[in-house]
Amino acid sequence: DCFGVAPKIKLNDGYEIPGLGIGTWLGFTKDGQRVQTTGDEVQKAVEWAIDAGYRHIDTAAIYSTETQVGKAVNNKIAEGVIKREDVFITTKLWNDRHAEDAVIPALQESLQRLNTSYVDLYLIHWPIAEFSNHTLDGTDYLTTWKGMVAARAQGLTRSIGVSNFNVQQLNRLQEASDVVPAALQVEINLNLQQPSLLEYCQKHGIVVTGYTPFGSLFGARGRDEPPPPRVDHPELVRIATKYNKTVPQVVLRYEVELGVIPIPKSTTKSRIEQNIAVFDFALTAEERATLRNFDKHYRVIPVKHWSKSPYYPFEKN
Ligand code: NDP
Repeated sequence: DCFGVAPKIKLNDGYEIPGLGIGTWLGFTKDGQRVQTTGDEVQKAVEWAIDAGYRHIDTAAIYSTETQVGKAVNNKIAEGVIKREDVFITTKLWNDRHAEDAVIPALQESLQRLNTSYVDLYLIHWPIAEFSNHTLDGTDYLTTWKGMVAARAQGLTRSIGVSNFNVQQLNRLQEASDVVPAALQVEINLNLQQPSLLEYCQKHGIVVTGYTPFGSLFGARGRDEPPPPRVDHPELVRIATKYNKTVPQVVLRYEVELGVIPIPKSTTKSRIEQNIAVFDFALTAEERATLRNFDKHYRVIPVKHWSKSPYYPFEKN
Protein backbone atom coordinates (compact mmCIF):
# COMPACT_ATOMS: atom_id res chain seq x y z
CA ASP A 1 0.00 0.00 0.00
CA CYS A 2 1.85 3.03 -1.24
CA PHE A 3 -0.31 5.51 0.70
CA GLY A 4 0.55 4.54 4.29
CA VAL A 5 -1.65 3.37 7.13
CA ALA A 6 -4.63 5.70 6.72
CA PRO A 7 -7.24 4.42 4.24
CA LYS A 8 -7.45 6.34 0.99
CA ILE A 9 -10.53 8.32 0.01
CA LYS A 10 -11.51 8.95 -3.60
CA LEU A 11 -11.74 12.55 -4.80
CA ASN A 12 -14.30 13.66 -7.40
CA ASP A 13 -11.52 14.12 -10.00
CA GLY A 14 -10.29 10.51 -9.74
CA TYR A 15 -7.28 11.08 -7.47
CA GLU A 16 -7.07 9.67 -3.95
CA ILE A 17 -6.31 11.34 -0.61
CA PRO A 18 -5.11 9.54 2.53
CA GLY A 19 -7.71 9.71 5.31
CA LEU A 20 -5.47 11.49 7.87
CA GLY A 21 -2.63 13.96 7.46
CA ILE A 22 -0.15 15.98 9.51
CA GLY A 23 -0.70 19.72 9.94
CA THR A 24 2.31 22.06 9.83
CA TRP A 25 0.99 25.44 11.02
CA LEU A 26 2.92 26.54 14.10
CA GLY A 27 0.12 28.73 15.45
CA PHE A 28 0.02 32.18 17.00
CA THR A 29 2.07 33.68 19.83
CA LYS A 30 0.23 35.06 22.89
CA ASP A 31 0.06 38.53 21.26
CA GLY A 32 -1.46 37.20 18.06
CA GLN A 33 1.61 37.04 15.79
CA ARG A 34 2.26 33.99 13.60
CA VAL A 35 4.98 31.81 15.13
CA GLN A 36 7.96 31.91 12.80
CA THR A 37 10.28 28.95 12.53
CA THR A 38 13.99 29.38 12.24
CA GLY A 39 14.92 25.83 13.13
CA ASP A 40 14.03 22.49 11.61
CA GLU A 41 11.22 21.35 13.90
CA VAL A 42 8.74 20.99 11.04
CA GLN A 43 11.22 19.12 8.86
CA LYS A 44 11.87 16.67 11.71
CA ALA A 45 8.15 16.32 12.40
CA VAL A 46 7.38 15.50 8.77
CA GLU A 47 10.26 12.99 8.60
CA TRP A 48 8.95 11.28 11.76
CA ALA A 49 5.46 11.36 10.30
CA ILE A 50 6.54 9.68 7.07
CA ASP A 51 8.41 7.02 9.07
CA ALA A 52 5.24 6.49 11.14
CA GLY A 53 3.19 5.90 7.96
CA TYR A 54 1.70 9.34 7.24
CA ARG A 55 1.36 9.98 3.52
CA HIS A 56 -0.52 13.28 3.67
CA ILE A 57 1.00 16.64 4.65
CA ASP A 58 -0.85 19.92 5.02
CA THR A 59 0.99 23.22 4.59
CA ALA A 60 0.33 26.72 3.21
CA ALA A 61 2.30 29.62 1.79
CA ILE A 62 1.44 31.69 4.89
CA TYR A 63 2.79 29.10 7.37
CA SER A 64 6.46 29.56 6.35
CA THR A 65 6.84 25.79 6.59
CA GLU A 66 6.84 24.78 2.92
CA THR A 67 10.64 24.74 2.72
CA GLN A 68 10.91 22.34 5.66
CA VAL A 69 8.13 20.12 4.29
CA GLY A 70 10.01 19.94 0.99
CA LYS A 71 13.30 19.02 2.69
CA ALA A 72 11.61 16.26 4.68
CA VAL A 73 9.83 14.76 1.68
CA ASN A 74 12.96 14.92 -0.50
CA ASN A 75 15.07 13.36 2.26
CA LYS A 76 12.63 10.47 2.57
CA ILE A 77 12.62 10.06 -1.22
CA ALA A 78 16.44 10.03 -1.22
CA GLU A 79 16.43 7.42 1.56
CA GLY A 80 14.11 5.26 -0.54
CA VAL A 81 11.34 5.30 2.07
CA ILE A 82 8.81 6.84 -0.35
CA LYS A 83 8.49 8.01 -3.92
CA ARG A 84 7.01 11.42 -4.68
CA GLU A 85 3.75 9.83 -5.86
CA ASP A 86 3.33 8.03 -2.51
CA VAL A 87 2.85 11.26 -0.58
CA PHE A 88 -0.06 13.69 -0.82
CA ILE A 89 0.96 17.33 -0.36
CA THR A 90 -1.56 20.12 0.13
CA THR A 91 -0.64 23.79 0.06
CA LYS A 92 -2.71 26.96 -0.04
CA LEU A 93 -2.98 30.28 -1.86
CA TRP A 94 -2.73 33.28 0.47
CA ASN A 95 -5.28 36.11 0.50
CA ASP A 96 -3.00 38.63 -1.21
CA ARG A 97 -2.71 36.53 -4.40
CA HIS A 98 -6.40 36.36 -5.33
CA ALA A 99 -6.17 38.07 -8.72
CA GLU A 100 -6.79 35.53 -11.50
CA ASP A 101 -3.31 35.94 -12.98
CA ALA A 102 -1.61 35.90 -9.55
CA VAL A 103 -2.55 32.30 -8.77
CA ILE A 104 -0.08 30.47 -11.05
CA PRO A 105 2.93 32.57 -9.96
CA ALA A 106 1.96 32.09 -6.29
CA LEU A 107 1.77 28.33 -6.78
CA GLN A 108 5.09 28.31 -8.64
CA GLU A 109 6.69 30.03 -5.65
CA SER A 110 5.21 27.39 -3.32
CA LEU A 111 6.53 24.62 -5.60
CA GLN A 112 9.97 26.18 -5.47
CA ARG A 113 9.92 26.26 -1.67
CA LEU A 114 8.59 22.69 -1.58
CA ASN A 115 11.23 21.72 -4.16
CA THR A 116 8.74 19.62 -6.11
CA SER A 117 7.16 19.85 -9.56
CA TYR A 118 3.51 19.57 -8.47
CA VAL A 119 1.32 19.52 -5.38
CA ASP A 120 -1.54 17.09 -4.93
CA LEU A 121 -4.03 19.67 -3.72
CA TYR A 122 -4.04 23.46 -3.97
CA LEU A 123 -6.61 25.32 -1.88
CA ILE A 124 -7.85 28.90 -1.81
CA HIS A 125 -6.97 29.46 1.87
CA TRP A 126 -9.82 31.91 2.57
CA PRO A 127 -12.68 33.34 0.46
CA ILE A 128 -11.41 36.75 1.60
CA ALA A 129 -8.94 38.83 -0.43
CA GLU A 130 -6.54 41.27 1.20
CA PHE A 131 -3.77 43.53 -0.04
CA SER A 132 -0.28 42.78 1.30
CA ASN A 133 -0.72 45.67 3.78
CA HIS A 134 -3.67 43.70 5.28
CA THR A 135 -6.41 46.06 4.09
CA LEU A 136 -9.37 44.28 2.51
CA ASP A 137 -9.43 43.82 -1.26
CA GLY A 138 -12.78 43.29 -2.99
CA THR A 139 -11.58 40.58 -5.41
CA ASP A 140 -14.30 37.95 -5.80
CA TYR A 141 -13.25 34.35 -5.10
CA LEU A 142 -14.98 33.38 -8.38
CA THR A 143 -12.17 35.26 -10.13
CA THR A 144 -9.58 33.47 -8.01
CA TRP A 145 -11.15 30.12 -8.85
CA LYS A 146 -10.51 30.74 -12.58
CA GLY A 147 -6.82 31.06 -11.73
CA MET A 148 -7.00 27.81 -9.75
CA VAL A 149 -8.55 26.00 -12.72
CA ALA A 150 -5.75 27.35 -14.93
CA ALA A 151 -3.09 26.17 -12.45
CA ARG A 152 -4.56 22.68 -12.53
CA ALA A 153 -4.65 22.69 -16.34
CA GLN A 154 -0.90 23.40 -16.33
CA GLY A 155 -0.26 20.37 -14.12
CA LEU A 156 1.11 22.43 -11.23
CA THR A 157 -1.47 20.78 -8.97
CA ARG A 158 -3.44 17.56 -9.41
CA SER A 159 -6.54 18.69 -7.54
CA ILE A 160 -7.99 22.04 -6.51
CA GLY A 161 -10.26 23.01 -3.67
CA VAL A 162 -11.16 25.69 -1.16
CA SER A 163 -10.87 26.35 2.55
CA ASN A 164 -13.09 28.27 4.96
CA PHE A 165 -15.98 28.55 2.47
CA ASN A 166 -19.56 28.25 3.77
CA VAL A 167 -22.47 26.45 2.05
CA GLN A 168 -23.68 29.59 0.24
CA GLN A 169 -20.19 30.24 -1.11
CA LEU A 170 -19.78 26.62 -2.24
CA ASN A 171 -23.13 26.85 -3.99
CA ARG A 172 -22.24 30.10 -5.69
CA LEU A 173 -18.93 28.62 -6.83
CA GLN A 174 -20.63 25.53 -8.25
CA GLU A 175 -23.16 27.64 -10.13
CA ALA A 176 -20.41 29.73 -11.69
CA SER A 177 -17.89 27.04 -12.64
CA ASP A 178 -17.79 23.64 -14.33
CA VAL A 179 -15.08 22.54 -11.93
CA VAL A 180 -16.41 21.34 -8.57
CA PRO A 181 -13.83 21.70 -5.75
CA ALA A 182 -12.30 18.32 -4.91
CA ALA A 183 -11.98 19.24 -1.25
CA LEU A 184 -13.08 21.71 1.39
CA GLN A 185 -10.86 22.36 4.40
CA VAL A 186 -12.67 23.75 7.46
CA GLU A 187 -12.41 23.74 11.24
CA ILE A 188 -13.88 20.50 12.65
CA ASN A 189 -13.53 19.45 16.28
CA LEU A 190 -15.76 18.37 19.18
CA ASN A 191 -17.06 21.91 19.75
CA LEU A 192 -17.57 22.59 16.01
CA GLN A 193 -18.89 19.51 14.21
CA GLN A 194 -20.65 21.31 11.31
CA PRO A 195 -23.23 18.60 10.45
CA SER A 196 -25.04 20.60 7.74
CA LEU A 197 -21.80 21.61 6.01
CA LEU A 198 -20.64 17.96 6.06
CA GLU A 199 -23.96 16.82 4.65
CA TYR A 200 -23.76 19.38 1.84
CA CYS A 201 -20.24 18.26 0.92
CA GLN A 202 -21.17 14.59 0.97
CA LYS A 203 -24.10 15.28 -1.33
CA HIS A 204 -21.91 17.21 -3.77
CA GLY A 205 -18.90 14.87 -3.75
CA ILE A 206 -16.59 17.29 -1.95
CA VAL A 207 -14.16 15.64 0.49
CA VAL A 208 -13.76 17.47 3.83
CA THR A 209 -10.41 17.87 5.58
CA GLY A 210 -10.79 18.99 9.18
CA TYR A 211 -8.40 21.54 10.64
CA THR A 212 -7.75 22.25 14.34
CA PRO A 213 -9.04 18.72 15.05
CA PHE A 214 -8.35 18.99 18.79
CA GLY A 215 -10.20 22.30 19.17
CA SER A 216 -9.92 23.39 22.80
CA LEU A 217 -9.19 19.90 24.13
CA PHE A 218 -5.91 21.09 25.65
CA GLY A 219 -7.30 24.43 26.87
CA ALA A 220 -8.22 27.86 25.53
CA ARG A 221 -6.37 28.90 22.37
CA GLY A 222 -6.22 32.65 22.68
CA ARG A 223 -9.51 34.29 23.47
CA ASP A 224 -12.41 33.45 25.82
CA GLU A 225 -13.04 30.36 27.96
CA PRO A 226 -14.12 27.61 25.55
CA PRO A 227 -16.89 25.10 26.28
CA PRO A 228 -15.94 21.62 27.55
CA PRO A 229 -14.51 19.06 27.10
CA ARG A 230 -10.87 19.21 28.19
CA VAL A 231 -8.63 16.18 27.74
CA ASP A 232 -9.37 14.93 31.29
CA HIS A 233 -13.16 14.89 30.81
CA PRO A 234 -14.44 11.70 32.56
CA GLU A 235 -16.60 10.52 29.64
CA LEU A 236 -13.72 10.86 27.20
CA VAL A 237 -11.32 9.15 29.58
CA ARG A 238 -13.80 6.29 30.02
CA ILE A 239 -14.06 5.70 26.24
CA ALA A 240 -10.29 5.97 25.76
CA THR A 241 -9.59 3.52 28.58
CA LYS A 242 -12.04 1.01 27.11
CA TYR A 243 -10.06 0.86 23.82
CA ASN A 244 -6.63 1.28 25.39
CA LYS A 245 -6.30 4.54 23.45
CA THR A 246 -5.69 8.15 24.48
CA VAL A 247 -8.36 10.85 24.51
CA PRO A 248 -6.78 12.65 21.50
CA GLN A 249 -6.97 9.34 19.60
CA VAL A 250 -10.66 8.95 20.46
CA VAL A 251 -11.31 12.48 19.18
CA LEU A 252 -9.48 11.82 15.89
CA ARG A 253 -11.29 8.49 15.50
CA TYR A 254 -14.64 10.23 15.96
CA GLU A 255 -13.78 12.74 13.22
CA VAL A 256 -12.76 9.91 10.88
CA GLU A 257 -16.13 8.28 11.57
CA LEU A 258 -17.87 11.57 10.71
CA GLY A 259 -16.28 11.16 7.26
CA VAL A 260 -13.72 13.91 7.89
CA ILE A 261 -9.98 13.74 7.15
CA PRO A 262 -8.30 15.19 10.27
CA ILE A 263 -4.93 16.93 9.93
CA PRO A 264 -3.57 17.07 13.50
CA LYS A 265 -0.42 19.13 13.99
CA SER A 266 2.34 17.96 16.25
CA THR A 267 6.08 18.48 16.31
CA THR A 268 6.45 15.87 19.09
CA LYS A 269 7.57 12.44 17.86
CA SER A 270 5.49 10.36 20.29
CA ARG A 271 2.33 12.39 19.54
CA ILE A 272 2.88 12.19 15.79
CA GLU A 273 3.04 8.41 16.11
CA GLN A 274 0.03 8.35 18.44
CA ASN A 275 -2.18 10.51 16.21
CA ILE A 276 -2.13 8.16 13.22
CA ALA A 277 -2.86 5.04 15.28
CA VAL A 278 -6.62 5.46 15.01
CA PHE A 279 -7.47 2.95 12.29
CA ASP A 280 -7.58 -0.19 14.45
CA PHE A 281 -10.69 0.49 16.55
CA ALA A 282 -14.23 1.81 16.10
CA LEU A 283 -16.64 3.67 18.35
CA THR A 284 -20.15 2.45 19.16
CA ALA A 285 -23.25 4.43 18.17
CA GLU A 286 -23.72 5.29 21.84
CA GLU A 287 -20.17 6.62 22.15
CA ARG A 288 -20.64 8.69 18.99
CA ALA A 289 -23.83 10.13 20.50
CA THR A 290 -21.88 11.10 23.64
CA LEU A 291 -19.28 12.90 21.51
CA ARG A 292 -21.95 14.56 19.35
CA ASN A 293 -23.23 16.28 22.51
CA PHE A 294 -20.07 18.40 22.75
CA ASP A 295 -21.00 20.25 19.53
CA LYS A 296 -21.55 23.86 20.61
CA HIS A 297 -20.91 25.67 17.32
CA TYR A 298 -17.87 27.24 18.98
CA ARG A 299 -14.96 28.28 16.73
CA VAL A 300 -11.29 28.37 17.70
CA ILE A 301 -10.60 30.42 14.53
CA PRO A 302 -13.38 33.00 13.95
CA VAL A 303 -11.05 35.57 12.21
CA LYS A 304 -13.31 38.40 13.40
CA HIS A 305 -10.87 41.01 12.06
CA TRP A 306 -12.12 40.04 8.58
CA SER A 307 -15.83 40.30 9.42
CA LYS A 308 -16.13 43.48 7.32
CA SER A 309 -15.22 41.59 4.15
CA PRO A 310 -18.22 40.93 1.87
CA TYR A 311 -16.88 37.37 1.70
CA TYR A 312 -16.56 36.76 5.47
CA PRO A 313 -17.69 33.11 5.72
CA PHE A 314 -18.79 32.78 9.34
CA GLU A 315 -21.73 33.93 11.43
CA LYS A 316 -21.27 37.52 12.65
CA ASN A 317 -21.91 37.72 16.39
P1 NDP B 1 -4.49 20.96 16.31
O1 NDP B 1 -5.91 20.72 16.70
O2 NDP B 1 -3.85 20.01 15.36
O3 NDP B 1 -3.64 21.05 17.65
C1 NDP B 1 -2.26 21.20 17.66
C2 NDP B 1 -1.79 21.21 19.11
O4 NDP B 1 -2.11 19.98 19.75
C3 NDP B 1 -0.30 21.40 19.26
O5 NDP B 1 -0.10 22.26 20.36
C4 NDP B 1 0.22 20.00 19.56
O6 NDP B 1 1.37 20.05 20.39
C5 NDP B 1 -0.94 19.42 20.33
N1 NDP B 1 -1.05 17.95 20.16
C6 NDP B 1 -1.04 17.27 18.99
N2 NDP B 1 -1.23 15.96 19.19
C7 NDP B 1 -1.34 15.79 20.53
C8 NDP B 1 -1.53 14.65 21.37
N3 NDP B 1 -1.67 13.43 20.84
N4 NDP B 1 -1.59 14.85 22.71
C9 NDP B 1 -1.46 16.09 23.23
N5 NDP B 1 -1.28 17.21 22.50
C10 NDP B 1 -1.22 17.05 21.16
O7 NDP B 1 -4.40 22.46 15.79
P2 NDP B 1 -3.96 23.26 14.48
O8 NDP B 1 -4.64 24.57 14.60
O9 NDP B 1 -2.51 23.21 14.31
O10 NDP B 1 -4.66 22.49 13.26
C11 NDP B 1 -4.04 21.44 12.56
C12 NDP B 1 -3.61 21.86 11.16
O11 NDP B 1 -4.71 22.32 10.40
C13 NDP B 1 -2.65 23.05 11.12
O12 NDP B 1 -1.34 22.69 11.52
C14 NDP B 1 -2.77 23.46 9.68
O13 NDP B 1 -2.03 22.58 8.86
C15 NDP B 1 -4.27 23.28 9.45
N6 NDP B 1 -5.04 24.54 9.66
C16 NDP B 1 -5.67 25.11 8.58
C17 NDP B 1 -6.39 26.27 8.70
C18 NDP B 1 -7.06 26.87 7.51
O14 NDP B 1 -7.47 28.03 7.56
N7 NDP B 1 -7.23 26.13 6.43
C19 NDP B 1 -6.51 26.97 10.00
C20 NDP B 1 -5.87 26.28 11.10
C21 NDP B 1 -5.17 25.11 10.91
P3 NDP B 1 2.88 19.70 19.90
O15 NDP B 1 3.04 20.14 18.49
O16 NDP B 1 3.71 20.47 20.86
O17 NDP B 1 3.03 18.20 20.06
